[in-house]
Amino acid sequence: MRRPEILAPAGDMTCLQAALNAGADAVYFGLGELNMRQMATRNFTRESLPELSSRCAERGVKRFLTLNTILFEGETALAWDILKFARPYIDAVIVADWAVIDICRDLGIPFHVSTQMSCSNSAAARFFKSQGASRVVLARECTLEEVARISADAGIDIEVFVHGAICMAVSGRCMLSHGAYGCSSNRGECRQPCRRMFRIHEVQEGENANAEFLVTPHTVLSAKDLCSLPFIDRLVATGAASFKIEGRARNPEYVKTVVTAYREAVDAVIAGRFDRQRAQAWVDGCAKVYHREFGVGLYHGRPGEDQFTDTDENQATTKKLYAGVILNYYARPKIAQVLIHSQPLTAGNDLSIHGPASGVVDLKLTELRQDEKSLDTVTKGQWATFPCPARVRPGDKVYRVVKC
Ligand code: SF4
Repeated sequence: MRRPEILAPAGDMTCLQAALNAGADAVYFGLGELNMRQMATRNFTRESLPELSSRCAERGVKRFLTLNTILFEGETALAWDILKFARPYIDAVIVADWAVIDICRDLGIPFHVSTQMSCSNSAAARFFKSQGASRVVLARECTLEEVARISADAGIDIEVFVHGAICMAVSGRCMLSHGAYGCSSNRGECRQPCRRMFRIHEVQEGENANAEFLVTPHTVLSAKDLCSLPFIDRLVATGAASFKIEGRARNPEYVKTVVTAYREAVDAVIAGRFDRQRAQAWVDGCAKVYHREFGVGLYHGRPGEDQFTDTDENQATTKKLYAGVILNYYARPKIAQVLIHSQPLTAGNDLSIHGPASGVVDLKLTELRQDEKSLDTVTKGQWATFPCPARVRPGDKVYRVVKC
């Protein structure tokens, strides 16, 4: 049985480190221009790319640059400039435009065909291979059976989405946001009108006119988030080469939690240890971090009403409260020192510590001390030390994790 790669989103250095620590085989990221998350607050820059690249190379983790917008006339020079700069630091580019494919071929950079190109059959996948593609990210509309047939027949590596937000429209080819607000989803500017409630008012006047309808997301447009963990064994059996986790705009704790769950799930399937009970535990773990409502996407056929959600609210079962920053870390005794800026900390709290070099470190606060004195609680303006088995660094942010 083929072991699929776990491909993690990386929006910034903290997310990248969280993905690496959680066991990702590969990461994908944007450089702030010409990618589907270019408006996101999380993005890498040309300056941070060498650091990203060397951290991945140290662990043998692959680096995929997303340059997956559709280009307009006059943008090819920028695409060329980005790719020429990025070439030494990446393993492949994720593309959605033939001009970018042409540039990749000229520069000798391997490229993956983005899901935005809607490859949904093995003949199309073979064609992309003949044009030089080294991988095809399948359209999200494919069923499990179709993924298996394409993987077997196409003769090229196949990547599939396994987790995260999905659109009711073919991703990135939706004009709703552009039409409503002038913000193009193809440019990563989507304002997600599909997730909102609308009132439709009849313009016609007179008797039996002026009708009004409240159109809720549930009845119309808002798709549930995809979670493949309950049937990940069947997805591994398709022979797909790569499992992609959506979420370049998500927080570090999302990256850590979801990558950890899929790493463990895939390893369990390969080792013959997958069962429903474990699958439910991984789903429960992922439910602690950002999601709307979990669904199965389109893997089991065309979606009915059950695959739409009536909520746009984050359904995470936990949330984090900012407490303060790490002042010091003493490596030999494995002790950290925290300065409280906001929320108090009490022995027994669950902590999550985030930093660009540390990633995400989760732990139970077993005790608090000030020199020789033991403390129950430490409040704003005070410092304290506590045992911290994993290394953290000065400046890392400390959060208290509580149930919602
Ligand atoms: S409006 Fe909704 S369906 Fe359209 S691209 Fe944005 S998230 Fe997707």
